[in-house]
This record gives sequence, structure tokens and C-alpha cells, in this order.
Amino acid sequence: MRNSLLAELNLDQGVYYLIVGLFFVLCCVAVFFLIIGIKRDRNRLIAEKFKIKEFDRIGFEEMLQHKYAMAKSDTHFTVIIVQINGLAELKSTLGERQVKKITMTLRDRIMAVIPHGSKICDYDDIRLAIFIDEHMDNKGASNVALSIITECNRPVVLLTRTKMTINVNVGIASNNEFCPDSKTLLQNAELATLNSTKEGFNKYEIYSEKLAETQTEEYKQYQEIKLAIKGHQFTLYYQPIVNLSTGKVSAYETLVRWEHPTLGLLTPARFLPIMEQTGDINWIGTWAFEEMLKMQTKHYREHPEDEDLVFTLNLSPKQLMYPHLAEEFRKVYKRYKIPAANICMEIVEFAMFDKVAEVSSNILKLTQMGFKIAIDDFGLEMSSLKMLEGLEFHWVKLDRKFIEQAQDDFLIGGLVETLVNFAEHKNFSIVAEGVEDDIIEEYVKGLKIGYGQGYFYGKPQPPENYGL
Ligand code: C2E
Ligand code: CA
Ligand code: CA
Repeated sequence: MRNSLLAELNLDQGVYYLIVGLFFVLCCVAVFFLIIGIKRDRNRLIAEKFKIKEFDRIGFEEMLQHKYAMAKSDTHFTVIIVQINGLAELKSTLGERQVKKITMTLRDRIMAVIPHGSKICDYDDIRLAIFIDEHMDNKGASNVALSIITECNRPVVLLTRTKMTINVNVGIASNNEFCPDSKTLLQNAELATLNSTKEGFNKYEIYSEKLAETQTEEYKQYQEIKLAIKGHQFTLYYQPIVNLSTGKVSAYETLVRWEHPTLGLLTPARFLPIMEQTGDINWIGTWAFEEMLKMQTKHYREHPEDEDLVFTLNLSPKQLMYPHLAEEFRKVYKRYKIPAANICMEIVEFAMFDKVAEVSSNILKLTQMGFKIAIDDFGLEMSSLKMLEGLEFHWVKLDRKFIEQAQDDFLIGGLVETLVNFAEHKNFSIVAEGVEDDIIEEYVKGLKIGYGQGYFYGKPQPPENYGL
């Protein structure tokens, strides 16, 4: 049949294949545009159905300015900000397309539960802003916020057909005599959103003057941190962990620093608490993990003799409560060819946290991936000892304060000895933190503690200072 067609059309085989190929490519292009068209139309239809107008950020701000210019004393309106948590990390693990799919789905769902005639915009990478052309009392605002949260919490089906639950935070502010312009109104809504994160995910907050009095400093820090993330101002320092019987470095602990443009080098106490509150801790955690893996790759390539050198990463309780942590780490880790045994996760006592189930599940998955686990900041609480019962781990790191106290307090010293015996029996090692001089070193060596970390061996420093 094909041969007779060729003969009839007087075409040779090459030209035939070329025409068929071109036809195929044209079909693909047509289908592609058709799908995009349908998607666009779908969004437009949803917006039309609920009489919602969509804006970009500039258009949204101009619209708000205009509303202010036209407002009379009895004109009332409300701005709601919805912060979608975890998007930055999902972007690095799932990719841009999936994240777009998530934001589009949430946007559609939100449009269905806000009053008709509202306006919506992508405020930035992780936040949507909504304008509602009416005054909302606290009850009305709470109802809308709760509906938004409920809708966003319904699992989103990703392009890969897997389901994902997304967490959000919501802030609400209305115009009034204390809120003279559109910029202040947006700031108030942002501040309310930030404050809602204090209570955890899926909470909302309605702006009040009282809130502003207590929050301004935190809000300034929050904005600075957002700029620092955009400006790549975070960096990693490393601190050696030394094997006390050989005197050699066995591992390096990874510690994050902020290279602040005017304040200089800042330690985590200055920025991690607020990042924990806003959820940015998940971003910085994934970022730090990947930076550490890059550094390890380079180091093992240049120094094959260091193939046993371990690098540790701190995971805060808030990170471990994030249900997708282990999966995100798995995706990042897969991109590198580093033995899992060269990576150690430092976790603190978690028995007292909420969401213990999520924490345990994350730790179990990290262990199954083959990473070592270190119990960080081990102290005197009985709950700490209890934690050691049901967990597979490699190191227990004794808090600096604990070591200090043990030197002066006979009873605490005895407890350390018990722990050392227990360690031998259970096949894990102990790291003494805060070894600042040779006296402390002698003391911990006398207790038969295996490893030491502290200024005596080296302060946290940029990798190049340690030949990394
Ligand atoms: P940590 O895990 O207990 O880290 C040890 C802290 O003790 C570090 O403070 C280190 O600089 C300090 N240190 C080390 N040796 C000595 C010593 O001999 N004497 C004294 N006085 N201090 C010593 P840093 O770097 O300020 O970190 C503070 C905490 O921030 C860390 O405590 C850790 O919990 C957290 N952190 C640091 N980086 C990260 C990170 O990437 N992710 C998370 N989630 N937490 C991090
Ligand atoms: Ca640590
Ligand atoms: Ca520690």
C-alpha cells in the first residue's frame, strides 16, 4: 500500500519519511498549544464563574491605591494574604512545573470560597493576596480564613498523580483610620500572616493595633531574612570533631551563618528562631544539605584519602515535624554520589514535641536511607535517656553546659560514666562538646569519652580554612 502510494505520488522513500515526520511534529505542536489553551481557559473560566478579577502584583497595588484615593469615610475593604508553606523547598525537589500546578490549584480553590467580586494576585513566590471590597468583622474574616485553610489543606494531585498536602498561613487586615494608605494595609496583612505562623501551620491572624506594638521588630527581621535569601547571604561554616584516641579529625559539623551586609557575620541565634516561625527553616535546611553535599563531592574527589570523613547536619525539631522532610532530602541526596554513611543528621531530644509521629517517621526514613544519626545537646533530663531506648544512632553529643557541670558536680560526673558504659554496651560513641582547653580535654579523656569538639580543636570556620 505504502509502496503503491509512493509510486503514485512519484516520491522516493526519504521524502516520504520527511513528510510523515513533519506531519507528526506539526500534530505535536498543535496538541501542545491546545493543552495550554485549555488550561488558560480553565483558569479564566473559574475566575469568571466566581466573578474574581486576577491581577499581577503591580496591578494589584495600583488597584489598591486607587481604592484608597476614591474611599470615603465609610468605605471599607479588606486584604487577605495566604502564605503557601514549603514552596521554595518543593521547587528544588519537585521542580518548577509541579510547584506551578500546586499554586494554580490552590488559587482556583480559594477563588471558590472568597466573596464574588474579590480580586486576587500572586503577591510573590509563596504568597497570594486577595482584595475584598467590603468590611469584614472578625467573625466574617475568621470564616473566610477558615474556608481558605480548609480548601488549601485538601490534598493536591501532582502531575505524577501523587497526592500532597499543603500547609498555609493566613493574615487579614482591613482599612481604618489608623491605616492611612495602601502600603500600610498590605504591611498590616503581612504582619498578621507572620504572626499566625507563631502558632504553627494552618493558622490565621486578624491584624490589630496591639499586634503591631509587639511585632514591629520581628517583622523587620522577617523582611531582612527574605532579602537575605534572595541575595544569597547565607553560608556554611564547618567545625572539626576529633577522635580523642588518635587525635585525628573524624567529622565536621556544618553550621549555618548569615553574612549580613552591614552587621557582619551572624550566628544562627540571630535568625533561626524567626525562620522556624515562618517556615523558612525548611528552605534553609534543604539548602544547607545540598551545599554540604556539593562540598563533600568536591572534597572526596580532591582528597580520596578522606573517604571516611563524616559531615554532620543539624536538623531542628521544626524541620523534623515537616511531613515531607525525609522525601525532600531523598530527592536532593539522589543527585549526589556520596555514601550515606558519610552523612550524619544531628537531632535533638524530641519526645516532648507535638507531632511526634511525623518526627519519628522522618527519623526512621533518614535512618533507612543509611544516614548516621547523632543525638545533639544531650543533657540531664530523664526524657533524654528514655529517647536512647528506641532509636538507632551513632553518636550522642554531650552539651557544653553538661560537660561544664560534670566537672564540678560529682553526681553529674557519675552520670556521664554511666552513659559511657551504656554507650559501650549499645555500640554508640560519645562526643563531648565545648572542649575549650587542655584541662577539659584531659577531663573528658579521663572519662573515656571517644570524641571531642570545641574551640580547642578549632572554631567553626569557612571550609577553605580546614582544607575542605
Ligand atoms: P549546636 O548544634 O549545639 O552547635 C554547636 C554550637 O556551639 C555552635 O554554635 C558552635 O559555634 C558552638 N561551639 C562550638 N565549640 C564551642 C566551644 O568550644 N565553646 C563554645 N562556647 N561554643 C562552642 P552556633 O554555630 O552559633 O550554632 C548554634 C546552634 O544553631 C547549633 O547548636 C544548632 O542547633 C543551630 N544550627 C546551626 N546551623 C544549623 C543548621 O544548618 N540547621 C539547623 N537546623 N540548626 C543549625
Ligand atoms: Ca549540633
Ligand atoms: Ca550541640
